Amino acid sequence: MSTGGTSLQSLNTFSLAADAAEIIHAQNVEQLIAAWKSAQEKQQPFLLLGEGSNVLFLEDFAGSVVLNRIKGISLTENADEWLLHVGAGENWHHLVCYALDHNIAGLENLALIPGCVGSAPIQNIGAYGIELQSVCEYVDVLDLQAGKVTRLTSAECQFGYRESIFKHAYKDGYAIVSVGLKLKKHWQPKLTYGDLSRLDPETVTPREIFDSVCAMRQNKLPDPAVTGNAGSFYKNPAVDASVAEKISSVYPTMPSYPQANGQIKLAAGWLVEQAGLKGFAIGGAAVHDKQALVLINKDHASSADVRALAKYVRDAVAEKFGIWLEPEVRFIAGNGEVNAVGALS
Ligand SMILES: Cc1cc2nc3c(=O)[nH]c(=O)nc-3n(C[C@H](O)[C@H](O)[C@H](O)COP(=O)(O)OP(=O)(O)OC[C@H]3O[C@@H](n4cnc5c(N)ncnc54)[C@H](O)[C@@H]3O)c2cc1C
Repeated sequence: MSTGGTSLQSLNTFSLAADAAEIIHAQNVEQLIAAWKSAQEKQQPFLLLGEGSNVLFLEDFAGSVVLNRIKGISLTENADEWLLHVGAGENWHHLVCYALDHNIAGLENLALIPGCVGSAPIQNIGAYGIELQSVCEYVDVLDLQAGKVTRLTSAECQFGYRESIFKHAYKDGYAIVSVGLKLKKHWQPKLTYGDLSRLDPETVTPREIFDSVCAMRQNKLPDPAVTGNAGSFYKNPAVDASVAEKISSVYPTMPSYPQANGQIKLAAGWLVEQAGLKGFAIGGAAVHDKQALVLINKDHASSADVRALAKYVRDAVAEKFGIWLEPEVRFIAGNGEVNAVGALS
């Protein structure tokens, strides 16, 4: 277990200046447990972090930030499937590349999503028509107090849109330590979204989908290495059909996606854009001018700038459309996570 400085700036993709009392790198389960015990003894708050690509630090963190760096990828197979057992600290995009390099298809639509493999189940990462849940076989979760690892099946993870049990019952006091993926050898391309629909399902290769997804993402999304951001700031809201109909009677081109439960999912980025907020800035924080769903650290933004902008955008969308957007990004205050909606109310 190694400890380093106390600055969190390079450890969150928003690149916001914040400090922790202590930063610990944990390379295995024992080091995670030791870090937890040490924080308990010091009566300090404890925060697990992957690559910090889905968090907003509201202020300095008063305790230990523990970076999950458990590595390792092992590959086995049965007649029909490839089985990957992956350490939580592996980088997600590297795993996608590893699979392609081993001629294993099925992860290519999820290329270039930042963050660690162990964080992927938490919000059931998704992009271009695929969510983690469709390839996840199990998640190994460590009870930090008891020192015991439990394997949850995909069904037990209770995956939903940007949802899982790891945001609820298995949140505080638990660490994801590895993830099992199951990829079918009989591959079927998913070409329903964006430029992918232009590809020929008969001849397309996983590599072509990967290249196309990377190109679309690089064209549309700001690179956190250049411009701080945490990806989509808000979730796409699901509303009753009557609400969607009312809006689309005024805006006939509004994108809308019917859900199995009868609700209609709307594009949060479209709502922000229609509220006239593309490029809108408060202090050093701004709404991205290509993708309105992304808030960026444009020019040395403070946490307060991002928070004020996030509130402004949420209020403006509510005023125009009567829809309250919910942040997808996790808000971290001095003693731990706080309710993001509450922090913007
Ligand atoms: C440019 C950009 C594009 C993005 N695009 C997408 C996208 O297309 N689809 C999508 O779904 N997401 C997207 N995201 C969001 C982000 O990539 C994912 O949420 C990712 O899974 C976060 O991984 P992380 O390791 O950075 O998590 P972190 O931000 O480090 O942590 C997120 C939360 O998980 C907790 N946590 C971290 N590790 C563990 C662990 N091992 N055990 C238990 N809890 C833990 C943390 O405490 C925190 O609450 C994007 C982000 C960026 C910056």
